[in-house]
Amino acid sequence: MQQQSPRSERLEARRTLLGDGLEIRRALPHRHRRTVGAWCFLDHAGPADYAAGRGVNVGPHPHIGLQTFSWMIEGAIQHRDSLGYEQWIRPGQVNLMTAGRGISHSEESPAGEPGRVQLAQLWIALPEAEADREPAFEHYPELPVVERGGFSVTVLAGEFTGERAPAKVYSPLLGLDLATPGEARATLPLRPDFEYAAMVLEGAADFDGATLEPGSLLYLGSGRDGLPVASSRAARLLLIGGEPLREEILIWWNFVARRREDIVQATHDWNLGLRFGEVQGARSARLTAPDPGELNLRGSRE
Ligand code: MN
Repeated sequence: MQQQSPRSERLEARRTLLGDGLEIRRALPHRHRRTVGAWCFLDHAGPADYAAGRGVNVGPHPHIGLQTFSWMIEGAIQHRDSLGYEQWIRPGQVNLMTAGRGISHSEESPAGEPGRVQLAQLWIALPEAEADREPAFEHYPELPVVERGGFSVTVLAGEFTGERAPAKVYSPLLGLDLATPGEARATLPLRPDFEYAAMVLEGAADFDGATLEPGSLLYLGSGRDGLPVASSRAARLLLIGGEPLREEILIWWNFVARRREDIVQATHDWNLGLRFGEVQGARSARLTAPDPGELNLRGSRE
């Protein structure tokens, strides 16, 4: 039984710069919506052409308490991490890095040549019981794709119409990429116990009457068993969802934790070169963690 009418809320993504100057749209965390299920961070980079030596160039930096989930749409990025993994990610592929108690990595576009890039990078908060697990890295070169009403639906995370994504996640989640070269219309089956949000990456799409274009996130709430999606032209969009997080998390710089002292400790350890290992071979400079002195109870300076 549906307890209340589903509500939707449009949230503007923040424009910010990634690494050495690529403009991105950051939809999560948002002042009015910090998480959607366990998804706690959502950046959309590009689509953009860049000059030789530019692109995505993020030097070594640490993570704790989360998984980084990179969905590559155009171009290529090289991942390197402190476990020794060195992995190119290309269109249609996912890199999933489980930070657990601590890992560091870098992400860089091909050196010395101009290029084009588009990707979505998301974080998934690990549940408290898994937050200190061993770090891990996985590359998924192929994902399930299903056709629905003219949309090509790639199952990024979780399960959709019987197709299960390979990504190893630790809470009930869904991530879908929907792409169409033209007119398309479908009703996506949803779970009433999940909350959802949609973001258009290219073109435009209508969700249950609301038209969405790149630059904002449409929070769809929970209590829905289906979502009508339509597009009259070429479009690409993301749908994310999951069981609402029942716990308060702190999101600070590249860290997710429950306790302020864990963030202070991680900052201290990283800036002193402890605990997070070494990333070999990165061209971009190692990042320095900012002082968490002004970290408030919500884990945000906003
Ligand atoms: Mn990272």
